[in-house]
Amino acid sequence: MAFQPALDAIYMELPDEALEERIHRAKETLGDRLVILGHHYQRDEVIQFADYTGDSLKLAQSAATRAKAEYIVFCGVHFMAESADILTGPEQVVILPDMDAGCTMADMAPIRRVRRAWEDLHRLDPHARYIPVTYINSTAAIKAFCGCRDGIVCTSSNAGRVFQWAWERGDKIFFLPDEHLGRNTAYRLGVPLEKMAVYDPRIPGGGLDPGILSQARVVLWKGFCSVHQRFRPEHVDRVRRAVPGIRVVVHPECAFEVVQKADEVGSTEFIIRTVAGAEPGSAWAVGTEIHLVERLAKRHPDRTVINLDMYACLCTTMYRITPQRLAWALERLVGGRIVNRVAVPEEERRWARTALDRMLNLG
Ligand code: 13P
Ligand code: SF4
Repeated sequence: MAFQPALDAIYMELPDEALEERIHRAKETLGDRLVILGHHYQRDEVIQFADYTGDSLKLAQSAATRAKAEYIVFCGVHFMAESADILTGPEQVVILPDMDAGCTMADMAPIRRVRRAWEDLHRLDPHARYIPVTYINSTAAIKAFCGCRDGIVCTSSNAGRVFQWAWERGDKIFFLPDEHLGRNTAYRLGVPLEKMAVYDPRIPGGGLDPGILSQARVVLWKGFCSVHQRFRPEHVDRVRRAVPGIRVVVHPECAFEVVQKADEVGSTEFIIRTVAGAEPGSAWAVGTEIHLVERLAKRHPDRTVINLDMYACLCTTMYRITPQRLAWALERLVGGRIVNRVAVPEEERRWARTALDRMLNLG
């Protein structure tokens, strides 16, 4: 992760109200020059300051259309800030309040290994045309890799549409870096499990052979989200036994067996809409990050909203964005100093933008 200046001790000593008051004041001073974007997994103490909240797709669209803002402060994780930087103009500055807010899933696909995998696929399956598709939860280098090989980015909101786009242009999809989103999406589109192969970057040749690859319509990189992979099919059984009639809604980063047992599956934005649109009195078990589940429970006191697993699951990297770090980054801007800028190198930006634009142009 990139270097960041240490947080001044004063921010750790301020009482909550004083901190809030200082963030409000900094926002007021910066006015239209500033936009704060917040992902749904942020804690309430942070998300309350966001001008726009959303899932990864909505936030990417927000960044792309905020041409007036000089500073975009991203309360989310590093790959989201990178995408915002790629989609905004050169005069706009994207800031991540804590540079250690990464994503363990994105880190599971280092560019060097992905290049090697691409060579392996073409060596083992030389006549197939592969289209690389990356989940937005990936580094700018991976997005650029896809962009310059006729590939594309997807989010959990539009993965189905993107897969269809890719199959219209090639024989097979090479999907990075989330094995589960890839499997769940392809299965929903009618691809049987036997026609999916998993490339394990820790094994020579990914653990694949020409026989397996010749059958495959999609090759899945062996990566996962540590938050969503914790949900198990037994959790669905247990909650259904405990609360008869409860509905289960999960994120597509959950394992296939969990998704198969759920009633509904979709992005964080979809989960929010589903619970909001449900009847008063209904009960919901939600398989996603705990801050969003708790927010939904608070927002809908006339519905029962519980976490699918009784041991709440936290995204520790999202949690690195604190009110203290936010106050610090904003007050530095007020003082004319930019801290924690996320700037994608020029050589990656162009092709990463191509891959992101292909997705955004799908609508
Ligand atoms: P969405 O909000 O796009 O569904 O993504 C969830 C997630 O894991 C973000 O890191
Ligand atoms: Fe990454 Fe999972 Fe956290 Fe999302 S929830 S940022 S995919 S580790």
